Amino acid sequence: NIAIPQDAVWILNKLNEGGHEAYIVGGCVRDSILGRIPQDWDITTSALPEETKTIFDHTFDTGIKHGTITVVLHHENYEVTTYRIDGEYADCRHPDEVSFTKKLNEDLLRRDFTMNAIAYHPKEGFRDPFHGQEDIAAGMIRGVGEPAKRFQEDALRMLRCVRFSAQLGFAIDPETWAALCANTALIQKISAERIREELQKLWLAPFAKKMPLLWESGLLAQIDATLSASLIANSRTLLEEISLCPKDSILRWCIVLQHYPLSEVKGFLRGMRLDNHSIKRISLLLDELSADLPTEPYPLRKKLRTIGQEATEQLLLLQSILRPASPHAETKAALEKILAAGDCLSLKTLALTGQDLMALGAPHGKILGTILAELLDIVLHAPEKNTKETLTTLALALLEKR
Ligand code: ATP
Ligand code: MG
Repeated sequence: NIAIPQDAVWILNKLNEGGHEAYIVGGCVRDSILGRIPQDWDITTSALPEETKTIFDHTFDTGIKHGTITVVLHHENYEVTTYRIDGEYADCRHPDEVSFTKKLNEDLLRRDFTMNAIAYHPKEGFRDPFHGQEDIAAGMIRGVGEPAKRFQEDALRMLRCVRFSAQLGFAIDPETWAALCANTALIQKISAERIREELQKLWLAPFAKKMPLLWESGLLAQIDATLSASLIANSRTLLEEISLCPKDSILRWCIVLQHYPLSEVKGFLRGMRLDNHSIKRISLLLDELSADLPTEPYPLRKKLRTIGQEATEQLLLLQSILRPASPHAETKAALEKILAAGDCLSLKTLALTGQDLMALGAPHGKILGTILAELLDIVLHAPEKNTKETLTTLALALLEKR
């Protein structure tokens, strides 16, 4: 038996009272069996979407076309989906049509892997026609039905397969693996966003030693040949580095892309539809990666001024993973000292403002900026000079020179 939240049980009961079958299903059942904490509780039911909506007070249509209604209970969302049969997949992505069914087994049959095709009801126990529990116990990912056909229906399943392997530490059943390797080219039908989401989950997955399945299968070469070649060439060190890297997608992308041609990183990530903020940060970090951060206070303060505290700290972390022999301890100590002292690192905290300069008789225009930059540079050298009095004296001297 598995423990499910009271609210999920309440939803199952309400559906049952309405004369419908209802089970929790999918990832939450799999994770519960594994003793992992499920992210969300999905429910599968014989009730039609319209029927589900009349049973609960707070619902919204999530994917009504695919039979999914979200039930909101105590500020939590529960996806309640009608038993469904997926029609033909002409495009390897979306079923052309879905039809509803009254048979649980038909709904389980459309799911990707046996471990994801188990239903559970607290009063009935497991409904597991494909022996998913046995595969979970054996640590095995196995396609439901004929694997090649299932990958041809929806090519994303191949990436899910590799990703689950790295998340759970599971092996892939030989027939499923052979089907995956034979169908990798179909991944090109899948949108860049969905590929990127899967890749990102893979970079963050705990069993890094399963990651090479991505390129050993040939799947990565179909996604990006350059990335595939660069990871194949650096596979061994990469896995060690990933294991040392905090679970942070920006940092993990940097580890993965460290050998990618620098000038092509932005284009690659744009193609993957990553958000601009992340693209900027990743390419900045990769740009700066090869030169160790300075250990001396002035150049370190200058670096903090140009790239900011967060990027500096990320850079230090990456450099200490990728080049453990470098003087990172010294840099770290210097950085901590600067941050603890609250040294001025930008115009925002400079003790003299543009307004102050104009009050001293400075002309409007570009010159204000130039003088402020000079004053900031002085303060980056000598933080104790960041007082209004000292900076006023310095500013007057600078103005006189002009
Ligand atoms: P995760 O921990 O990533 O959420 P999950 O198994 O819950 O894993 P979801 O994407 O949330 O994955 O999907 C929920 C369930 O829907 C899956 O367990 C599976 O039964 C089914 N499913 C999801 N995507 C597919 C797919 N591409 N093909 C077939 N079945 C799928
Ligand atoms: Mg899920």
